Amino acid sequence: MKVKAAVLRGVNEPYRIEELELADPKEREVLVKYAYTGYCHSDLSIKQGGIIETMPKVVGHECAGVVEAVGPGVTKAKVGDHIVSTWMVPCGQCYTCREGFGNVCMGNFENFAAGVLLDGTSRYTDKDGKTVQHNSFVSGFSSYSVVPEDGVIPIRKDFPLEYAALMACCIPTGWGTVANIAKVKPGDSVAVWGMGGVGLNILRAAKMRQANPLIAVDIQPEREEIAREFGATHFICNDGTDPVPIIQDLTGGGADIIFEAIGSPGAIVQAWWALAALGKLVVAGVMRHDETADLPLQLLPFHQKSIHGGLYGSISTHNDIPKLVDLAMTGEMKLDKLVAGKFKLEDINDIAEKMAKRQLTGRWVCEWD
Ligand SMILES: [Zn+2]
Ligand SMILES: [Zn+2]
Repeated sequence: MKVKAAVLRGVNEPYRIEELELADPKEREVLVKYAYTGYCHSDLSIKQGGIIETMPKVVGHECAGVVEAVGPGVTKAKVGDHIVSTWMVPCGQCYTCREGFGNVCMGNFENFAAGVLLDGTSRYTDKDGKTVQHNSFVSGFSSYSVVPEDGVIPIRKDFPLEYAALMACCIPTGWGTVANIAKVKPGDSVAVWGMGGVGLNILRAAKMRQANPLIAVDIQPEREEIAREFGATHFICNDGTDPVPIIQDLTGGGADIIFEAIGSPGAIVQAWWALAALGKLVVAGVMRHDETADLPLQLLPFHQKSIHGGLYGSISTHNDIPKLVDLAMTGEMKLDKLVAGKFKLEDINDIAEKMAKRQLTGRWVCEWD
């Protein structure tokens, strides 16, 4: 079938809106008609070459829609199901999967990185008959896509699909990072660097775990309003202001837990200095592959500090996403505030440019016809 998609053909090139041919789903694959796709900072990182990916590829990884057809042998989804597509599809067999960390599945990583489905091939071809790769199994900026059945999570139909798209990346990453990795306790002093999609969800989840104080740090002063809406007790704009002494003052020496949700070495250095003895720095932001941070490591043993990485909030997608959807239905996640605006696929370059210039607040989602 013919589909409309945003294709990235090279680093720092604009996305091209192309008509592609999408092949039918093969065994244990489903055809999904997307309803909404969020534009995540990782999409920008891929465009800028900060995350190395194969190209040309159909971009996008934060998406939800409706199952249109199923291939042979599919048992986990049926036509008409509302689904969230997940950008990591655990193989269930490898070491990390067996340890309970399918979020960092090593078994399917090669296919993930190569932009192919589980049989090692792509379902997309362009007008010249050349192969176009998938993005992390789901290819969200495509009107339809073919996804492995283990990469689709059926959800309740009364949950709005524009919010469901964010259940594919920024919500589980934020909430899982707080609950599964940091394990925030009531009364923990917490600071969060970066008020993008992931950072706002970290903030909200930490608020619901009664973190206090709960300090938001961002380089954009106009993000203070949404940070306070999501539960920040304090907001520090670190554009020209050093947040470290302010946080040390607010917390009596340093924060118990700090989250880095940007992917910035400079933020990691600031966060490291703002951390209390016994404190935990949890890094959810993804750095450029060629960047390093200069940290005074003597404090690692002397203050018994630690640094933890976290991918996808260390969630178990099939277990945790339906639970997060139920929680979101209570209104506590403030998803009406998180979704800041909608755009059409043709405007994706404009959204990317605004994100690069730090002109966006909240999450923007592509609305499909
Ligand atoms: Zn993402
Ligand atoms: Zn695995």
